[in-house]
Amino acid sequence: MSRGVFAELAAVMVAFGVTVGALFPPAIMLLGVPQSVTVRPVVYAATLTAGLMVGAVNYLLARRVVGSRIRTLAARMRHVGDVMHEAAHTGDWSRCTPANCMLPVDSADEIGDAAAGFNGLLEAVHDARGVESSLSGFASAIATHLTLDRLADVMLRNMLACLDASGGALLTADSGVWTVRASQQLHAELIAAPPVQVALARRSVAVIPPSELVATSANDPQQPAFVVVVPLQRSTADLGRVVLRFSEHPAPTTHRLIDVLRDTASVALHNALVHERLHTLATTDSLTGVFNRRSGLARLHEEWRRAERDNAPLAVLMIDLDHFKRVNDTYGHRGGDRVLQEVAKFLHSAVGGGDTVLRTGGEEFAIVLPSADAGEARRVAERLFEGIAALVVAVGAAKIRVTVSVGGASYPEHPCAGAEELLHLADEALYRAKQQGRNRVSLGPAMDATTDHGDRQATREPVRPSSVARS
Ligand code: GH3
Ligand code: MG
Ligand code: MG
Repeated sequence: MSRGVFAELAAVMVAFGVTVGALFPPAIMLLGVPQSVTVRPVVYAATLTAGLMVGAVNYLLARRVVGSRIRTLAARMRHVGDVMHEAAHTGDWSRCTPANCMLPVDSADEIGDAAAGFNGLLEAVHDARGVESSLSGFASAIATHLTLDRLADVMLRNMLACLDASGGALLTADSGVWTVRASQQLHAELIAAPPVQVALARRSVAVIPPSELVATSANDPQQPAFVVVVPLQRSTADLGRVVLRFSEHPAPTTHRLIDVLRDTASVALHNALVHERLHTLATTDSLTGVFNRRSGLARLHEEWRRAERDNAPLAVLMIDLDHFKRVNDTYGHRGGDRVLQEVAKFLHSAVGGGDTVLRTGGEEFAIVLPSADAGEARRVAERLFEGIAALVVAVGAAKIRVTVSVGGASYPEHPCAGAEELLHLADEALYRAKQQGRNRVSLGPAMDATTDHGDRQATREPVRPSSVARS
């Protein structure tokens, strides 16, 4: 391209020199030089040659001065182009930072302008690269997580990094109540602030200025803050909200990025919610909400491995409702269901967070108690035994009371070779409790009956099966 410009420049300069050479003799006639002196072939030849030479010299000088600078500029641009080309293929953009690739703007002229323009283009490419890598990092980070809490955490961290936000939270709606699934550098009181609550109820992006939040964030050391509430939706499904905290008003580019991120985030959140729902369906008992047999036993096996590895005790209790058939016969299947639900609810509330309650069968539950030795297992068994006996389940006008038989075993005091055998020991103890008249607690193998871990009827007065009461 520059060759074309210089050829044009050469033609213009030579033409200009020749024109000046041609016009020179008549021009000096106007100054009084006699025609006999000026209008002579030799004078014309001299002035045309001089004009031609001046044009040529001008062209050479321009080419040398301007051309060399343009060539330097072009060479650097080509070099930057090569570096970017290579980076696009290798994915390594470390050699292509603005600091490495920018051209020096060393003159306040068109060449300086060209260099500055090129630098601006470089910055724009760099920014676009940043956005693209944030987006692909965001997409790949969230693509590897399906469990909701893990995904929420990873998604939020990446969103904050992409958007340069100073804090945030990710919420999902559970039965109409917002539940914080992940939080980073965000005060809970900010979410509870009335303007944020109003924004949470909306289904479009809302920006809340710090002036609306001052009263509620008085204890927030990071104030002032702009809060942006971003809804996560998939077609008509309202999935959740991301609350973002910015120390400055988010720029229009940030808003555009939020729009892109929220689409990706919505898809990921939708998948995680579906996954969670399927997981819940697959692992919990639909009637009582406790673990079903398969997933509860899987947890028992996990706990067994942990107990062996850490050389820690592990106990299992089996709980079977006494004469439950009579409950069904008396109050109908619905009444029986209500009793099962209430018993499961009580068991779930009465054991620790690390313990597992599972429904092993119709009216039978098991409790896995990590780190519980035989003494602890007995204490828990009796607490549950007493608690269930004290339960009163109202079904219509009727008040139903039930009793249970409890069997238990604790590794290693009750020797066994695996999780199945531990469960079997507890089941045998339950069978023994039933055999001995029900409504009692029995722990460990039969031969232990005379030891501390042996069978022991609970201190409470036995409730005879006929005492399943109606009121
Ligand atoms: P035992 O004291 O020997 O355990 O007597 P039981 O009547 O409790 O035990 P049995 O095994 O004879 O009967 C269990 C009853 O539990 C029979 C069955 O209809 C009832 N059952 C099983 N699953 C459910 C359920 O999901 N809902 C209701 N309502 N009843 C159930
Ligand atoms: Mg029973
Ligand atoms: Mg049973």
